[in-house]
Amino acid sequence: MDIANAQVSLAALRHNLRLLKQAAPNSKTLVVIKANAYGHGMLEVAEALADLADGFAVARTPEALALRQAGIQSYILALEGFFDAGEAQALVQHQVAAVVHSEQQLALLESLSFAQPLDTWLKLDTGMHRLGFLAEQFHALFPGIKHHPNIQQPLKLISHFACADELDHPLTLQQIDLFTSLSSGLGGECSLANSAGVLLWPQSHFDWNRPGISLYGISPQVDNCGADFGLVPAMTLQSNLIAVRQHSKGESVGYGATWQATQDTRLGVVAMGYGDGYPRSAPNGTPVWLNGRMVPIVGRVSMDMLCVDLGPNSQDKVGDRVVLWGPELPVEQVAKAVGTIAYELVTKLTSRVRLTYT
Ligand code: PLP
Repeated sequence: MDIANAQVSLAALRHNLRLLKQAAPNSKTLVVIKANAYGHGMLEVAEALADLADGFAVARTPEALALRQAGIQSYILALEGFFDAGEAQALVQHQVAAVVHSEQQLALLESLSFAQPLDTWLKLDTGMHRLGFLAEQFHALFPGIKHHPNIQQPLKLISHFACADELDHPLTLQQIDLFTSLSSGLGGECSLANSAGVLLWPQSHFDWNRPGISLYGISPQVDNCGADFGLVPAMTLQSNLIAVRQHSKGESVGYGATWQATQDTRLGVVAMGYGDGYPRSAPNGTPVWLNGRMVPIVGRVSMDMLCVDLGPNSQDKVGDRVVLWGPELPVEQVAKAVGTIAYELVTKLTSRVRLTYT
């Protein structure tokens, strides 16, 4: 019995990518499939979308090389921008583009000898203040970079939003304005928009967009769902009831005895726990979907199991399918109940959860 599995709809992924492309018809789309395609399976997602995507973005060099090893011939960009000399050689050899965000990397690139220059995206810090060159550093470095023997010309520019999911945050327009002024007239391709940029900030659509979370049918905003944008959730995390028990008023359940029944009821035990990546921090009341309705988690989530209050009149039985998140129960709603973001929930699934594709 295949309990605790995640079903990924390739049709949903393709629908979402088409929608994201339609939202930005003048931009190319680099589909972000880092962190195992946000838990959806990097190689399977890349194969399913290779004909629709203009390219793929991953975080790290090993992810990019795994795509090449699997035969993916699309344009690939490694976003995180950390590589040593060996990785830099591999990036060039396998025709993977890479982000460069520091003077140390520029110096490393200068010290190497390549068969051809590295396809380089220079990262500008327009307001995230995590990685990248500030405007004044960029102005000072640009003349040298223009003649850097190992950097492909014309130089491409990239920056990343800090708050684009918040419509009223002033930083987003400041970032767009700064990126526009730094990139204008340079002649190379540019990229700024993540999912929130694609869906909410048309002014941020440059040559390439980089949607991640929205591809999976999940909203980049915390107070709504992918469906509000016409996106379709790609993942259904599901399991089964492995026990149904009669439970008396006043009895507790699980480690720490953190919940007591306020009435006689029936409890369901679901084969899903933090060993599968389901968050242990899910509080009492976090919903799961069972037989056409939401039922609440009660007691602590343990490693392999969690318990739900089925109610006194439940007809649910062992073997019934339970959806932890999916089209019936948006992962955004679960994330809100748990006090995290959907990005974290989907990327934290463990290898025990078998991914299947429909
Ligand atoms: N670009 C960069 C540099 C990122 O780090 C990420 C994800 O964190 C993305 C694009 C995609 O962001 P999102 O998943 O919010 O669309």
